[in-house]
Amino acid sequence: MNKEIEKKDVPSNFIRNIIDEDLKNNKNNGEVHTRFPPEPNGYLHIGHAKSICLNFGIAKDYNGMCNLRFDDTNPAKEDIEYVDSIIEDVHWLGFDWDDRMFYASNYYDKLYEYAVYLIKEGKAFVCDLNAEEMRKYRGTLTEPGKESPYRNRTVDENLELFEKMKNGDFEDGTHTLRAKIDMASPNLNMRDPVIYRIIKTEHHRTGNKWCIYPMYDYTHCISDSIEGITHSLCTLEFEDHRPLYDWFLDQLPVKRHPQQIEFARLNLGYTVLSKRKLLELVEKKIVTDWDDPRMPTIAGLRRRGYTAKSIREFADRIGVAKADSTVDLALLEYCVREDLNKIAKRVMVVLDPIKVIIDNYPEDKVEWLEAVNNPENEDDGSRKIPFSKELYIERDDFMENPPRKYFRMTPGKEVRLKHAFYVKCESVIKDENDNIVEIHCTYDPTTKGGWSDDGRKVKGTLHWVSTKHAIDAELRLYDHLFLSQNPEENGNFLDNINPESLVINRKAKLEPSLKEAKNGDYFQFLRKGYFCFDAKDSTESNLVFNKTVGLRDSWSKKNKK
Ligand code: ATP
Ligand code: MG
Repeated sequence: MNKEIEKKDVPSNFIRNIIDEDLKNNKNNGEVHTRFPPEPNGYLHIGHAKSICLNFGIAKDYNGMCNLRFDDTNPAKEDIEYVDSIIEDVHWLGFDWDDRMFYASNYYDKLYEYAVYLIKEGKAFVCDLNAEEMRKYRGTLTEPGKESPYRNRTVDENLELFEKMKNGDFEDGTHTLRAKIDMASPNLNMRDPVIYRIIKTEHHRTGNKWCIYPMYDYTHCISDSIEGITHSLCTLEFEDHRPLYDWFLDQLPVKRHPQQIEFARLNLGYTVLSKRKLLELVEKKIVTDWDDPRMPTIAGLRRRGYTAKSIREFADRIGVAKADSTVDLALLEYCVREDLNKIAKRVMVVLDPIKVIIDNYPEDKVEWLEAVNNPENEDDGSRKIPFSKELYIERDDFMENPPRKYFRMTPGKEVRLKHAFYVKCESVIKDENDNIVEIHCTYDPTTKGGWSDDGRKVKGTLHWVSTKHAIDAELRLYDHLFLSQNPEENGNFLDNINPESLVINRKAKLEPSLKEAKNGDYFQFLRKGYFCFDAKDSTESNLVFNKTVGLRDSWSKKNKK
């Protein structure tokens, strides 16, 4: 486990209570072994992060182990690109599985052997119903199902047909292997569920060895048992599958019978968390890719400038519960801001520039002024920023006819230029349409650093950039990808896309130190928000910065009321 993750007191929850009880009773010989079991059919998202932090976190806190297991039972939808991204993302979040990275496909031989065992025990049969027919036989929540006409085949016949399925003698969809349980069970999952289906598709690990693939429910419990998992944590939608999980393990000659425990999945406001839907956003080109900074994927959040630490903190704060709910996106943003406040370098960037001329400043003079990198952290040191006669400030930091209590620049009043001097606006120059194009000021050379010796106070402090030193960049300003808290509101989430989820700013002027920005650098653009360098899209001639989150915290305000 990554050393960087400090052990802290995580509040207890019902899962930890179960484990505590098990340990007290010396169940599982006092061992705790969990697993994180993603299907490699998409990138991981913030919901998976909850499950990752839970599984790896519990293993760590109980001195146990957590495996990474790819649940790769559907070759038609899975891909090696997803496998690689999952490995990268779990590592990035700060977790490690030592040499315990497994694939359900590692167990295909064993799973097949167990299926033959079930047939021999009279607990499984080959069924010739197609998907449509099977649905009709299945019944409904209020009506029992009907037994398949193939249910009473002899063991020998079943063994022969299953072998043929395996050898590729049948086409996709023509036959399945089904468990023989109870077509009248009130639980639909127990109505002779399918164990194997024919899929003649190459698998990214087993190639063309198999043309039958085991179903999730069958595979998962056996994989857990083989790996010696003690507590198999999954989301609530699997609650009704638990009897089946237990049924398989009860019928089979397995050594260990793990306990499945369900918890509520994470739902997040303004966000969809389903790989199928996220894939749709990618395929329909509503976002650029899985790592688009508007995506709730780990890769997208990372590129947006979210830190692993803030995501872990978020997972701790939301906790785990047994009932579904939706978490306010502002809580995630709060966690990000809290971390970035400690580590982001404060820099000056003018997003909507207007020119300021300091009339009493020498034409060619340049002064390199000291600027602290982060007042929250003295160890971050300081850097020099250039000051000269011509500067940019924000257009909305100036008003010719201000309302009361306007403390930014206005004619005749002094303001502070951050790290620099007090300046006072003397006049403005306008174009033929009466728009201000230039602001003329004088400065007070005795206020170097932004402080006056005579105790004279100013209320406003503005950020600024020297025009001849400023650099250009592309700033990508993001907003929620969806217009409403619940993207599914009024039907389809695709009808709820926010057309302004990305706004590009190319007119911004940046202080020259930002030319050295690197992948993984976090910044606070003073008074404007947190940004990060986008290494993927930046080029020598076009630096790209992503806005991570604004400075204003709506979470603690909301929750103080
Ligand atoms: P999706 O619904 O996004 O397609 P999934 O459940 O099909 O997700 P898996 O790859 O099977 O994706 O998930 C791996 C693990 O992550 C599972 O144990 C699953 O329960 C958990 N998980 C998935 N989504 C969430 C979520 N929103 N909150 C918490 N855990 C989740
Ligand atoms: Mg799944």
